[in-house]
Amino acid sequence: MATAPAPRTRDRFEELLGPGRVIDHPLERRLYARDGSIAQGECGLVVLPETTAEVVACVRLAAELGLPVVPRGSGTGLCGGAVPLDGALVMSVARMTRIVEIDPAVPCARVEPGVLNLDLSTAVRHLGLHYAPDPSSQGACSIGGNVATNAGGPHCLASGVTAQHVLGMEIVLADGEVLRLGGTAPDPPGYDLRGFVVGGEGTLGVVTEVTVRLSRTPPAVRTMLLDFPTVRAAGEAVGGIVAAGVIPAAMEMMDRLMTVAVEEFVHAGLPVDAAAILLVEVDGTPAEVAANAEVVERVAREAGARGVRAAADEAERALLWKARKSAFGAVARIAPNYYLHDCVVPRTRLVEILERIEAIAAEHDLVIMNVFHAGDGNLHPLIAFDRRDAAQVARVHAAGAAIIEACVAAGGVLSGEHGIGLEKRDFMPLTFSDVDLAAQACARDAFDPTGRMNPAKVLPVGSRCGELVLDAGALPAGTWL
Ligand SMILES: Cc1cc2nc3c(=O)[nH]c(=O)nc-3n(C[C@H](O)[C@H](O)[C@H](O)COP(=O)(O)OP(=O)(O)OC[C@H]3O[C@@H](n4cnc5c(N)ncnc54)[C@H](O)[C@@H]3O)c2cc1C
Repeated sequence: MATAPAPRTRDRFEELLGPGRVIDHPLERRLYARDGSIAQGECGLVVLPETTAEVVACVRLAAELGLPVVPRGSGTGLCGGAVPLDGALVMSVARMTRIVEIDPAVPCARVEPGVLNLDLSTAVRHLGLHYAPDPSSQGACSIGGNVATNAGGPHCLASGVTAQHVLGMEIVLADGEVLRLGGTAPDPPGYDLRGFVVGGEGTLGVVTEVTVRLSRTPPAVRTMLLDFPTVRAAGEAVGGIVAAGVIPAAMEMMDRLMTVAVEEFVHAGLPVDAAAILLVEVDGTPAEVAANAEVVERVAREAGARGVRAAADEAERALLWKARKSAFGAVARIAPNYYLHDCVVPRTRLVEILERIEAIAAEHDLVIMNVFHAGDGNLHPLIAFDRRDAAQVARVHAAGAAIIEACVAAGGVLSGEHGIGLEKRDFMPLTFSDVDLAAQACARDAFDPTGRMNPAKVLPVGSRCGELVLDAGALPAGTWL
């Protein structure tokens, strides 16, 4: 159990926020010591600001007290990004939930960071608009967390990930300064600091407001469930559909183990004897949808699909998506815990890497299931396990490392959408040179020279500005380092 924060520290934050908005109860602090990953941290106080001014006041007090600050949205992150270490102060923006402004003309919305992803789309549905990035956690995760992780989602294949939908933002830096980046212009002048902060994982400051692009909801959509006798056939269909010139709105794959778990949980009529299934959605005008659906079906059958089921109505479409988006929850039927990975490989290497993952599962005597964004090669191998079994936990970590290394060796990258956080931090040298890491560390230090914003995340220890390749003595007098 973490040491209790000093009562005086708690009182100082309560003087700023008032009663009920500073959490120091040991049980509650245990909850804030976790996120959706398997990482376990140590939480000091939790503060719940409701305005930018309160965030500024809390950040300034944390600076005065020398406390590290971990920004937190909904805590659904899967890489340990929101997990506090060594009694850090957790700054939850979960109460900053106002949709400040909706401008249907741009179209865009200005929102506070604690607004839930799905709540934003729901709020603009009557205007024929939606917020395109749709993580499977969209009913629970926050826009601020999406920005900080550069979140993706099933429909990001055609529409792009969060970075393509953020127009501007307000961010409170470690010293309490408030920085406004971007605006509604598509290409604001100057350095693209907005692009740098998207994916910053709370290491650059606390995002207190975001202006996001809204998208027009297409007039027609068709959702198809494709059923394959082999994983290879499903993989060939994924490549074949894109090669035929169709970029579906979404193209998701599940292997047999996952399909069975989901079907027993959701009862969506998924083919449990299929080696792999694809959920493919095309949208656009009715004519585009009809033409693209025909290509998808033809390519899938040529690759060996046994069946193609198109959702007959909105209810059936919703059921199929419920099945996809409930996948991680369904795993509770297999084992009490899961460790979800997030790597990207070139689409052309999908089948080969899935076979390698199957071999890794056998080598480590583990159950590994797959459900993922196949269209962009974003794999989510999910290792089901029981954390009470220490030997099994050790095998889970070894298998996880083997998966990451295999994906990188296949020309992939460490993360498609979940971020680096604690989980992948020490794997960063697999894809970045010392010079790359030093450049990233220097850019981070420009935002937070004290290193108190979400310390020990993203960059491996030892890569802070000047610690690696840069030699202070070689720089001209007055050069910032
Ligand atoms: C069932 C399930 C399905 C998921 N599916 C997807 C998916 O399809 N695609 C995907 O990308 N992710 C997915 N995720 C992961 C997760 O939901 C996303 O990473 C999401 O963006 C995290 O949002 P959050 O509000 O929960 O952030 P948190 O977990 O609270 O924080 C995540 C990171 O962002 C930082 N942060 C949070 N808020 C702020 C802020 N206001 N300012 C600065 N930094 C901040 C934190 O410090 C941390 O580093 C899934 C998770 C679960 C549990």
